[in-house]
Amino acid sequence: MIAQPATLWHATATPAALRPPAMGEITADLLVIGGGFAGLSTALHATEAGLRVVLLEASHVAFGATGRNAGFVVPNFAKVDPDGIRASLGEAKGGQLVQMAATSADLVFDLINRHAIACDAQRSGWIQPSHSEAALARAKDRVRQWSAMGRPVEYLTAAAVQNLTGAQGWLGGWIDHSGGVLNPVSYAHGLARAAEAAGAQIFENARVTSLTPVSSGWQARTDAATIHAARVVNVTNAYADHLIPGLAHSFFPLKVFQIATEPLPQSVRARLLPGGQCVSDSRRNLFTFRFDAANRLITGGMHILGLGADARVPKTIHRRMAQMLNLPDLPPLQYAWSGRAAVMPSFLPRLITPAPGLIAGIACNGRGIAMTTAMGRELALWATGTPVEALAIPASPPAPIPLHALMRHAPNALLPISQWRDRLESPPDLGR
Ligand SMILES: Cc1cc2nc3c(=O)[nH]c(=O)nc-3n(C[C@H](O)[C@H](O)[C@H](O)COP(=O)(O)OP(=O)(O)OC[C@H]3O[C@@H](n4cnc5c(N)ncnc54)[C@H](O)[C@@H]3O)c2cc1C
Repeated sequence: MIAQPATLWHATATPAALRPPAMGEITADLLVIGGGFAGLSTALHATEAGLRVVLLEASHVAFGATGRNAGFVVPNFAKVDPDGIRASLGEAKGGQLVQMAATSADLVFDLINRHAIACDAQRSGWIQPSHSEAALARAKDRVRQWSAMGRPVEYLTAAAVQNLTGAQGWLGGWIDHSGGVLNPVSYAHGLARAAEAAGAQIFENARVTSLTPVSSGWQARTDAATIHAARVVNVTNAYADHLIPGLAHSFFPLKVFQIATEPLPQSVRARLLPGGQCVSDSRRNLFTFRFDAANRLITGGMHILGLGADARVPKTIHRRMAQMLNLPDLPPLQYAWSGRAAVMPSFLPRLITPAPGLIAGIACNGRGIAMTTAMGRELALWATGTPVEALAIPASPPAPIPLHALMRHAPNALLPISQWRDRLESPPDLGR
């Protein structure tokens, strides 16, 4: 039976702290809006740097994409590589951004260790198997680029991919040993606890409904409180409302589904991913999988048509996983959920500067656990006075995507073409 509406992660996470509502007048050096990884990491780093920090979350900590992802810790970008980033952003800025990404998984696992966050974390590595000759050539090139930076990456032959994953058909691939897996809700709860232990105040059920510039900085209102802060960081990701004009139109909001099966028998578990890594292959309609701590298999996917997708897509991606992993008796679905990812046109993290003392950050692009944690550290630097130009992430005023109402559907509408191209390029024995 499918468990609803909780995600697997909410159902199995370490318990959340009980937080009082935000009431009355509150003064802070920094107001953080949004209780996902980005907001929690900003709050933690800024508090540790000595600021008085208040974080307001409209729902509860890890309500957004932070509580709804697959728990893959991936220290790179989905569509762009170091050479391309340096070419497009310049040696200095590009180099800074690439260095931030390269060390982003280090930061996640360091925080987990430093704050003793119990989140089923395993630094087992992230594997990207290649579905085509072109993808294999790209895997070799990605290994060249990241290893030139001293990263623990390795090229994998087809046999090595098969040994590591237990699945057949890929032509080879690569692994970044600095990645891994975790329970994202437990990680978020741990970041929140660490920020509070350092002195941050976190309020839930506290949607910011207005933001007004005042002589001392900014005034934010919720239903029950007024917050006065010198600076404001907005990290509402694809859950952004109309608080900052133009922000929600500067990215593509992508609905992504996730499922988890009932636990697999130990005999099958021992054959698939014995090392406990996570896998995202090179297809446009990428195939992903990992196990959770109780041996449930987890995968994800997108929809082409929104209508009826909540009921249809989990079954479709369950069937795809059974086929991909050659598991005709794959246990049934136990959890199915979805979340929204914010994808920038450049597929790179971006800081948005709508007004002095106010900054927004989007580092999601579907690979956000490591990247948003690292962005939070950058935003904390900004909050303590580092000029925005000196940060590792490029910044610009809001730049709404032309024809956004139409263009926001493009990633879903183009999915059949992606599937068709994937099929043309893949060897026949690689499941669909
Ligand atoms: C299905 C799915 C699978 C994914 N899998 C992976 C993965 O395996 N690995 C990976 O690295 N990344 C993955 N990602 C991406 C990753 O989850 C996100 O990049 C990351 O969680 C974004 O964190 P965030 O803090 O920027 O935003 P979010 O976690 O989305 O948080 C934004 C928060 O802002 C709050 N908010 C909005 N408006 C207001 C307001 N006015 N006042 C107060 N609060 C407000 C929302 O309630 C929300 O909690 C996945 C994403 C999805 C959707």
